[in-house]
Amino acid sequence: MAIIIDGKKVAAEIREELKLKIADFKNKTGKVPGLVAILVGNNPASEVYVSSKSRACEELGMTSKVEKFPSEIREEELIQCVTRYNEDENFHGILVQLPLPSHINEQKIIETILPSKDVDGFHPVNVGNLVIGKETFYPCTPYGIVELLKRYSIETKGKHVVVVGRSNIVGKPIANMLLQKKEGANAIVTICHSAAKDLSRYTKDADILIAAIGKENFITADMVKEDVVVIDVGINRIEDKNSKKGYKIVGDVKFDEVEKKASYITPVPGGVGPMTIAMLLTNTFSAFKKFLEKNKII
Ligand code: NAP
Repeated sequence: MAIIIDGKKVAAEIREELKLKIADFKNKTGKVPGLVAILVGNNPASEVYVSSKSRACEELGMTSKVEKFPSEIREEELIQCVTRYNEDENFHGILVQLPLPSHINEQKIIETILPSKDVDGFHPVNVGNLVIGKETFYPCTPYGIVELLKRYSIETKGKHVVVVGRSNIVGKPIANMLLQKKEGANAIVTICHSAAKDLSRYTKDADILIAAIGKENFITADMVKEDVVVIDVGINRIEDKNSKKGYKIVGDVKFDEVEKKASYITPVPGGVGPMTIAMLLTNTFSAFKKFLEKNKII
């Protein structure tokens, strides 16, 4: 039976650590980190994400603001809003909740955010810095995965990490992060995607398997080797007549059978998910600290 990687517990620890640091900085400087979330339209999932992000900020003593716009907003207005927060010294992190309506060029909006306030780590400057191994804001979900591996003392050096999924927000950044020649990384990395003809050929060789596919119960026990470390990023909603909501959330990995073969595994929910917000708060705190240093406040 695998050791269950408890993302909820680790995320709570990270938040507690941040809370203490924020209180300390407030005492010394009178300032606190600020995060603004920009939300366009009324996608229910986006609304839930944004409200949990802003609640998390407030619990830690950060300033938090949500800028809400109707889905018809013009691109120019959105750019003006981002520009305003680029200049606002009370907000150190800006996040634009994706996806945006189709008439808005998402990439253009992301590129309007100052790289020093891009706490989601999606700006091309930050992506480039990640690839060449320079200090940057790591995208929150991959950052959460690296932190989980670190806090569970799971060795990555020389290990074969197989990432299934090549999205810009999970697959590509986690592969690049684990590839870096430094502590907590230094892995041999394979990235798979939907063009793989025989996915098992790759997954069976993984010491660490990261599934970021978006297909429920896709990775089965016959696709992994004994003692594999499994990180399940997937969040899939499936019908569940026994639950009040009528659905439940499952990952990309068939947990019950893979757990019997794995040495470590993240559950869904309660694995990678809670880490994403914890790392967003971590990035916002880092942006705040850099702002204080740059302005010689500390
Ligand atoms: P995405 O953009 O849809 O990417 C999915 C990737 O899986 C693509 O690269 C796709 O290949 C690959 N794929 C699909 N079918 C495949 C197959 N049969 N064999 C091999 N590869 C296949 O998704 P994403 O944004 O990375 O998210 C992935 C999952 O993680 C989703 O369930 C999402 O909800 C979840 N997620 C969770 C968090 C969190 O906080 N825990 C954060 C972000 C995302 P192609 O590139 O060839 O299409």
